[in-house]
This record gives sequence, structure tokens and C-alpha cells, in this order.
Amino acid sequence: AAEEGFDPEEVEGAIEAAGHGPLPVLAVVGRPNVGKSTLVNRIIGRREAVVEDRPGVTRDRVTYEAEWAGRRFKVVDTGGWEQDVFGIDASVAAQAEFAIEAADAVVFVVDAKVGATDTDEAVVRLLRKAGKPVVLCANKVDGPSGEADAAYLWSLGLGEPHPVSALHGRGTGDMLDAVLEVLPEAPEQTFGAAVGGPRRIALIGRPNVGKSSLLNKVAGEERVVVNELAGTTRDPVDEMIELGGKTWKFVDTAGIRKRVHLQQGADYYASLRTAAAVEKAEVAVVLIDASESISVQDQRIISMAVEAGRALVIAFNKWDTLDEERRYYLEREIETEMGQVAWAPRVNVSARTGRHMEKLVPAIETALAGWETRVPTGRLNAFLGELVSAHPHPIRGGKQPRILFGTQAGTKPPRFVLFASGFIEAGYRRFIERRLREEFGFEGTPIHISVRVRE
Ligand code: GDP
Ligand code: GDP
Repeated sequence: AAEEGFDPEEVEGAIEAAGHGPLPVLAVVGRPNVGKSTLVNRIIGRREAVVEDRPGVTRDRVTYEAEWAGRRFKVVDTGGWEQDVFGIDASVAAQAEFAIEAADAVVFVVDAKVGATDTDEAVVRLLRKAGKPVVLCANKVDGPSGEADAAYLWSLGLGEPHPVSALHGRGTGDMLDAVLEVLPEAPEQTFGAAVGGPRRIALIGRPNVGKSSLLNKVAGEERVVVNELAGTTRDPVDEMIELGGKTWKFVDTAGIRKRVHLQQGADYYASLRTAAAVEKAEVAVVLIDASESISVQDQRIISMAVEAGRALVIAFNKWDTLDEERRYYLEREIETEMGQVAWAPRVNVSARTGRHMEKLVPAIETALAGWETRVPTGRLNAFLGELVSAHPHPIRGGKQPRILFGTQAGTKPPRFVLFASGFIEAGYRRFIERRLREEFGFEGTPIHISVRVRE
């Protein structure tokens, strides 16, 4: 590396930065109007439209990447869900339930000016049961005079209340320091505890595509309830299901079965649920209703899985209803609408007739194998060397940027760092990704490529 003009320490740093596995998840929960969205904006350090785009507008984004003191993590914002037909208690409890379940740590936001309400107490009970680390945020402490209000919140029994003004940024740094103390380096529940255990599948898709029908079909009578979040719901959360001679854990199946008819916030609720399931899973099976046109919502759900870095299988359901014409148009739609995930294994199934159910497991296994693929550095560099000499980067400003060497920094999904002598254009990056896929497979997995340029 040194002779190529890179400082070895810089190379090592770049590999480490790119090689991080899945990020730990921090959920921000609390009653409406306590300042959750304002706090999330503060944490992610951007003035994103988290606060403005409410109410009534579909919010698909619920997780954001953040960084504090050199550590990266994800933040789940539950601020998008307004009070609904069940009344405030039920809605706050339900949203907190999903968020907490998918999280590695929780920031519980209380309005220090108002003090602890009954709803706050209800969330505290949920938090106790879940047993996840909690940092108590006493928000709306805009100045020193508010600190006394914060101190009252010791009564919640969650330890030290951290006085914060999400609006002005006061105290947020100290609170984030406390968060980092309790947030694990890697998402434990998904990738720590699960090692060697059953693989985790999230079956996701927009309403009525047939998720619950498919689950019933594959589960048959073998269904075993493995987890119940007591007190909030009697529905199973995760289920062990035997498929193709192996046991799989289908995560968050309660979200599939539970028929919650919400008026306000229903879309947001679905997004939160989907994001939570994806966070908990290793592989996402996105179900699409093949009898209808591929919709923006289908694409957003696919993007959630890809952005979260999960393995991906796409299943087109209701195949029994397709005539020749629809099949023709579906293929055209797939070409034009789903080019970005052409690498995902695809199965055409019918939950009704059971058609091609046996193809599901091989597709899932293929995707997981791609997700875990590691290319030895020697092989990678032999490949890159050949590629770069056969297809050099276009000359720009009289110079020719070159990929000098590269390494795979991590798996799940595969992450590469390439070191270059100059700026590498997006088109050339895509070309490299395409060739990497041709050469090494990576079926069913997103891959990340970052490029470091020699100064
Ligand atoms: P959410 O419903 O919990 O997501 O709450 P929002 O983030 O939408 O905030 C609700 C209201 O409280 C907004 O009008 C915010 O401007 C206000 N707010 C949020 N944080 C603070 C704070 O630290 N101090 C004060 N004074 N107001 C705040
Ligand atoms: P979910 O909302 O995604 O869980 O969807 P459901 O499983 O509730 O299915 C929605 C509707 O589609 C129901 O009326 C199902 O009977 C129907 N359905 C599901 N899968 C199939 C299928 O493979 N073929 C046909 N024809 N209908 C299906």
C-alpha cells in the first residue's frame, strides 16, 4: 500500500470505517408533542423534513443514520404517528412496542415542563418488560431554570433524567454520551444472539399482497410461537417455521396478521412496522402482488431492505391469477421499474395454490450466501488489476484516475473499499459493481463500494 502513495494508517482506518457491520439501533419513543422529532433532527444533525411533513402525508422514512463521537448508529423516529382512533395510550404503547423491539437501546423522551403523565408511566412499564437499556431525556429544559423540572423525573425509576433542549441543542451532547455508554457496538439481537441459530426472515410488502396467506401456507401446522411481548398484545411476534428441512425464524409476524384498521397514521404505522422487521432480519422477502402494476410503495419497501443492507428475495404472488397478457406486461414493468435490484433472486408464487413454494427456500439460501460472501484480497486485486487495464477510467482533465488496489472490509452485506489515484466517476463505480457481481456472484445482496482517493 505504501508504495502506491497511501499512508498505511489511512488505509487501515478506511477499511475499518467501511467494514462496520449492521449498525446498532436507537429508538426514540414518547408521547406526541414531547419533542421526539425535534430531538431526532438534532441527533442526525440535519434539518430534515421530519417535523414538517405531518400530518396525513405518508412517511416512509423512519430510520436515519447518525454519528456521535465517531460512532455510527441508526435512529428510529416514532414521532410520525399521531393520535389515532384508539386514543393516545394505545397508540403510544403500540408504536413504542415495535420501536423498542427492534432497538438495541431506547431514548425515552418526557416533556419536563409537563412532568410524568399516566401515558409516560405506561411506556415505562413497557420499557421495563423489554429490558433494553434506556436513557431518560427530560426535554424542553431550555435554560437552567428548567433543571428542577427535570429532577422530578427521577420518580419514573429509570435513573438519571438528562435535561435537554432538543430545540436549542442544550444538553443533547451529554445525553448522547450517555446513549453511547449503553448502546452496543453491533446490533446484538440480530447478529450476536443469532449466530448459529435459525436465520431470520422478514416477510414484508404492502397491504393485501398476500403476506398472511403466504405465512399460513408455509407454516402449516408446524407453527411455534417463540416470543410474546406480554401485556401489549397476545399475538406472537416471531415464529419458528420449518421449511425445506430447516428451521427459520420469521420475525414480527404479528404485524402481518394483526388487522389494525387505523385511520390516521396507518401508512406511517405500516412503515414503522416494516422498518422494525427489516432491522431484526437477515433476509427480507418482499412480496409483490403480480396481478397489479408494480407501485411506488412496492419500490419503497424494496429500498428499505436494500438501504438497511439486508439480503433480498422478491416474490411475485397471486401468480394463479395471471393471464398471458399480464405476464407480458409484468416482465416489462420488472425491467423498467426494478433494474436496481436485478440481482435479487425472484420467485413467482401463489399463496393460494401453493405454486412454487418449494422455490422460496433455495432463493433465500442463495441470497444469504451472497450476503455472506467474502472475496480474498489476492483474488480481488487480481480481478481489479485485469479490469482496470482492460477498461481504464476515462481521462479527465488530462489525467487518468486509476483504481490502485482494493479490499473487502466486511460482509453482511459485502463492503469494499477501493483506493484510487483520482476521483472515480459514478458511472465507473457502477461498472465496477456490475463486474464484481459478474465475477463473484453476490446474488441477492446489496454491495457497498467506497472509494478512497490519494491526496
Ligand atoms: P413529537 O410529536 O414528540 O415528535 O414532538 P415534536 O418534535 O414535533 O415537537 C412538538 C413541539 O414541541 C414542537 O412545537 C417543537 O418545536 C416543540 N419542542 C420540541 N423540543 C423542544 C424544546 O426542547 N423546547 C421547547 N421549548 N419546545 C420544544
Ligand atoms: P396481506 O395483507 O399482505 O397479509 O394479504 P392477505 O394474505 O390478507 O391477502 C389479501 C387477499 O389476497 C386475500 O383476499 C387473499 O385471499 C388474497 N390472496 C393472497 N394470496 C393469493 C394468491 O396467491 N392468489 C390469489 N388469487 N389470491 C391471493
